[in-house]
Amino acid sequence: MNNLSSAMDIIDDEMVEILKSLERGEEISDANILLTLKRKGYVYEIEEHEDRFLNYRFREYEEKIRTSLPVFYLYPTYACNLRCSYCFQDHSALKSAVIDDECLQAAFESMDYLQERSPSKELPYFVIFGGEPLLKRKRQSEVIQKTLEESNNRGWKPKIVSNGVDLEFYTDMLSSYKLEYIQVTVDGPEEIHNKRRISATSGGTFAPIIRGVQKAVDNNIKIAIHINVDAQNLPLLPELAHFFVEQGWKGNNLIVPYLAPMRDISCMEYEHRLPEHVSLHQIFDFYRNCEDMSVIHLVGWVGAEIFRKVLETGHLPSPQFKFCGGNMTRYCFDLNGDVYTCVDSAGVEEYKVGRFFPTLEIDESVLGSWRNRSILCMQKCTSCNLALVCGGGCTKLAAEKEGSIGSPFCTDVQDVLFESARYYYPFLKERTKGGLHT
Ligand code: SF4
Ligand code: SF4
Repeated sequence: MNNLSSAMDIIDDEMVEILKSLERGEEISDANILLTLKRKGYVYEIEEHEDRFLNYRFREYEEKIRTSLPVFYLYPTYACNLRCSYCFQDHSALKSAVIDDECLQAAFESMDYLQERSPSKELPYFVIFGGEPLLKRKRQSEVIQKTLEESNNRGWKPKIVSNGVDLEFYTDMLSSYKLEYIQVTVDGPEEIHNKRRISATSGGTFAPIIRGVQKAVDNNIKIAIHINVDAQNLPLLPELAHFFVEQGWKGNNLIVPYLAPMRDISCMEYEHRLPEHVSLHQIFDFYRNCEDMSVIHLVGWVGAEIFRKVLETGHLPSPQFKFCGGNMTRYCFDLNGDVYTCVDSAGVEEYKVGRFFPTLEIDESVLGSWRNRSILCMQKCTSCNLALVCGGGCTKLAAEKEGSIGSPFCTDVQDVLFESARYYYPFLKERTKGGLHT
């Protein structure tokens, strides 16, 4: 696999030996093979040619980001009705505030301004986030309604990231607006979910979430079910999949359950966290042996995504010069009038990149430190053979664990690639014969 030239091939032992000889600088006798390897970008005559191509692809990538749609997140509140076992947020009384009308208006004006300045012709990707955006309280539901009105008036279809506990209450109102989808979290079958997703005031949260999902889907609203995976709930995934099947959700295009690895973005050294390749190994075993698991999609493992995309499209995805939207076109607007780029750092003063209330003032140099972070400006990444898959790692974790935004943050991406290659190899091989992955 070569992520720079976007080539992927299944090769035999003989070809492995040829590649090794070339690496040692030895001549090979078969000119046709050498030509093919060069044509596919596995082999370069001199290093400078590869560097030149790398820079070309980077410029191409930057241009694609420059012209891609703007991404806006709105945080109408930091309040939440859950106290999850792994939550890192501060739930003090001060956090119960909801955005006021003036600030909400200013957020939309700033988004309009940034959209007009964007070379992209596409409508923004707009996410309503939190805290919990769908809290059952009067002022908040008015704010959500106003936000939906403002966004639909602009032709935007918001995505809402919610814990789903009060979704049933909100569904009637939400169904009168155009939405991309609502994301809720279900962390396992009822018992384990209730141990992790704990209500601040009442009983278990599993049952109300499931009722909310069903009501939303009955009202034609698309739901993505996010499942945080770690050692605590990993063995129970087949049971959860079975529950989804029993609910009649298999084959329902309005419901997409998906797995995502629990990451340590809060740096709290969460005790159940697993290296990503370890959880992936188990998940692939489930996919091999448990039919119901096909109802749950695999999303958050970067190395596995690559193989999945190859199977779906026949092409490797573009090289990954950067890690996340914080390094690209994302702006996050919170109820205090502050602007951030990292979804999980909103509300944390040191990660602020500017203000939008009363007027939009971005600190271009702080923003630049996020936007310009790429594998090409981090020494360790420039010589890393995983760089074009990895993208340099999470910026927030680099700042908190490695001392600065400009540091790389390495994960087990190589092991994730190996696990994924092992699992997807038979499907890839089948594809070369014209078969399709299902
Ligand atoms: S694995 Fe580490 S060195 Fe390699 S690209 Fe990722 S962050 Fe950079
Ligand atoms: S910087 Fe890290 S924590 Fe922040 S949005 Fe990007 S990936 Fe997530």
